[in-house]
Amino acid sequence: MISLTELYQKYKECTGVSTDTRKIEANSIFFALKGPNFDANAFAEQALEKGAKYAVVDDASYVKNQQYLLVEDGLKALQALANYHRKQLNIPFIGLTGSNGKTTTKELINAVLSKKYRTYATVGNLNNHIGVPLTILAIDEKVEIAIIEMGANKQGDIKELVEIAEPTHGFITNIGKAHLEGFGGVEGVVKGKGELFDWLSENHQTVFVNVASTPTLAMTENRQFKETIIYTTDANPNYKTVVSMVSKSPFVTFEDTAGNLYSSHLTGVYNFQNICAAIRIGQYFGIDLTAACKAVADYVPNNNRSQFVKRGTNMVLMDAYNANPSSMSAAITYFNELKVDKKMVILGDMFELGDEAEAEHEAIGKLLANCKFDYILLAGKLMESAVKELPVMKVHYFPDKFGLHNWLQDYPVSNTHILVKGSRGMSLESVLPFLGSTK
Ligand code: ATP
Ligand code: MG
Repeated sequence: MISLTELYQKYKECTGVSTDTRKIEANSIFFALKGPNFDANAFAEQALEKGAKYAVVDDASYVKNQQYLLVEDGLKALQALANYHRKQLNIPFIGLTGSNGKTTTKELINAVLSKKYRTYATVGNLNNHIGVPLTILAIDEKVEIAIIEMGANKQGDIKELVEIAEPTHGFITNIGKAHLEGFGGVEGVVKGKGELFDWLSENHQTVFVNVASTPTLAMTENRQFKETIIYTTDANPNYKTVVSMVSKSPFVTFEDTAGNLYSSHLTGVYNFQNICAAIRIGQYFGIDLTAACKAVADYVPNNNRSQFVKRGTNMVLMDAYNANPSSMSAAITYFNELKVDKKMVILGDMFELGDEAEAEHEAIGKLLANCKFDYILLAGKLMESAVKELPVMKVHYFPDKFGLHNWLQDYPVSNTHILVKGSRGMSLESVLPFLGSTK
């Protein structure tokens, strides 16, 4: 059995870490991680053949030579190695969690901080018990600030991640209704996300809090931190307001205190909140306000997250990356306020809501009933609960997305602004070809 310090030596000899034999880099260290349906120890040999320098296995029967490193448990070894590496890096680690907006805020913070520092931020959405260690192990000595996204499906997940990443600074993007099933209701979400603040408070570290986020603010009340940086997203005279939102259509436009105007590539009031967080965190780390504003304005989102795309004569607000009750209602409310001629919403089921599923879909129906949309298209079994709340004339319901595709093919839409949103499992980006050509 190899010790942690020996394992660290081996890792230092390598170019990187891999866990997937389809993506082996030459001279990397391969970790055989067990999946629900496979034992990756069986892939160790293949990883070495493909150029890995070492393969970490947790079953002695696979060890054939010195390139095989035997540990008790592959996943635990990966996490322990990441934590060991983290302890060698004497730099700020910003830990981010929240129900929605983690990736966007992480990208924005990275855009701002990289104006002055060598940064490393979580790639894409690598935010779980495997992704966080891999993120940390990809940080080299040249990096000056790390920005780590931390995701959670249930209580205890964030605790596990903070113990690996040991953040020095923390931010909760929002407390909303996501993964209610695993967390055990909103109370459970507060407790679960609170694990980040617990760690920061127990280790005398710093938090950033949006004063408008009542649940996060409440979380600071019974905890002591090294510093609590409270900022605002409106013209609250009690706090230093650095930027203010100018218009809501269709991209977030904002102004700094000197009156300079910036237009972002992001939509939605919620993204203004993400922008403010990134600017405030940037300022804390000494980034000049104008540079911070410019960095967030230049950021272009990808992966179907709140993105406007042109299809024929239509403008489509693609938000099909994921959905939960808070992000769904935020998107609907924002879209309702948008001042454009014709509007359509295409919404799909929100998953992982457990017992709350019916009530939460009903609530979306009620919200839609108070909005002014020209067309409402709802797809998925759960969305049937939303339909009940809506006047029959206004809504078209499809038990699955194929019915939706057929409808769009039979009744082509033109000159319309269209919001598309649903859970990842609905893959609502599939409607795009039915909304017009890319030309
Ligand atoms: P995941 O759990 O998949 O990692 P995430 O928290 O990283 O998600 P993003 O990918 O940044 O979140 O954004 C997902 C969606 O959440 C956006 O498309 C938008 O609809 C919504 N959203 C983004 N920021 C906020 C916010 N501050 N408050 C509420 N909803 C938000
Ligand atoms: Mg994310």
